[in-house]
Amino acid sequence: MTSIRWGLIGASNIARQYVINAIRENGGTVSSVMSTSAERAKAYAGANGIPASTTDLSALLADPAIDAVYISTTNELHRDQAIAAAKAGKHVLCEKPLALSLDDAHAMVRAAKEAGVVFATNHHLRNAGAHRAMRRAIKDGRIGKPLAARVFHAVYLPESLQGWRIANPGAGGGVVLDIAVHDADTLRFVLDDEPEEVAAITQSGGMAASGLEDAVMTTVRFRSGLIAQTHDAFTAKYAGTGFEVHGTEGSIVARDVMTQRPLGTIVLRDEDGEHPLDFDRTDLYVTALSAFHGAIAGTGRPAADGEDGIRSLAFGLAVLDAARSGRTVKVETGL
Ligand code: NDP
Repeated sequence: MTSIRWGLIGASNIARQYVINAIRENGGTVSSVMSTSAERAKAYAGANGIPASTTDLSALLADPAIDAVYISTTNELHRDQAIAAAKAGKHVLCEKPLALSLDDAHAMVRAAKEAGVVFATNHHLRNAGAHRAMRRAIKDGRIGKPLAARVFHAVYLPESLQGWRIANPGAGGGVVLDIAVHDADTLRFVLDDEPEEVAAITQSGGMAASGLEDAVMTTVRFRSGLIAQTHDAFTAKYAGTGFEVHGTEGSIVARDVMTQRPLGTIVLRDEDGEHPLDFDRTDLYVTALSAFHGAIAGTGRPAADGEDGIRSLAFGLAVLDAARSGRTVKVETGL
């Protein structure tokens, strides 16, 4: 495969910590980074071995030596940047939540379709070997009919990330659009099912300002009738993460798997006792970029595409609506 040349839109932590490496591990090149600050762009480029930097999105998008862009700016900026990139003929890997409204997310996915470029949402968790092993066990019928799931995704937001996420509703801050959307994607992927309605209660437990939520508990009913509960937080220092699926013939209990790294353990319990499940420990983002490069080459599809991004956003917006209204809310995707 020819090397894919990437432009980064956003001088972000996530690109620095995971995605630049994943591009390079898949034979890609990071050609340029765009930031709103020339100084930060230059420092970021220098620190990460990127040959060029710019503050001009149009210039980056006009560069014929860039094939694809990774958008990891704050969430209110994704829509315009993604649409501009698609119109410029660049393939787009966009961070979640795709946007702050469903209309915007649809417009992004439509723009990519019209331009004939690959569009993906960076939902990393479905790339985890742990979640793939859970999906496989369920598909193989090892727990019978899945009836319930529980996701424990209450973590502590590191001080270095205590910025827009807890202070800026306009940037799509708050734990629901940050973490609950990942739960939605992971549940959809592992269960191969669609969330249909949600009820939720949020909390402002002292970290988030401006009335933003920093924790949420949600209950969900899926199309199959399965019920799920999720707990997301920025404020839980010692909770650990987990994911359980309980079926008529067995239960899958996974611990420490709602993470960015290929960690954790899975045990399947049934009438014969406890069975540890082995799983692949490949870097989640390397798997995501491998799929994205494959989609560009026409040999595969993105791990999570635009429709997946629309669906997880629809879930997040329904959770916020349910928490505000105190009512059960249907998950309307517009798809
Ligand atoms: P960051 O806060 O690191 O970056 C977001 C923007 O903030 C950057 O585009 C940058 O603007 C600005 N910024 C970054 N550092 C500084 C600084 N020191 N001073 C001033 N401004 C700064 O965000 P994250 O990397 O945490 O998140 C970015 C996106 O990625 C979000 O959409 C988030 O939801 C998503 N995300 C996804 C994850 C996943 O695993 N899928 C994990 C983490 C985040 P500029 O570009 O103008 O320099």
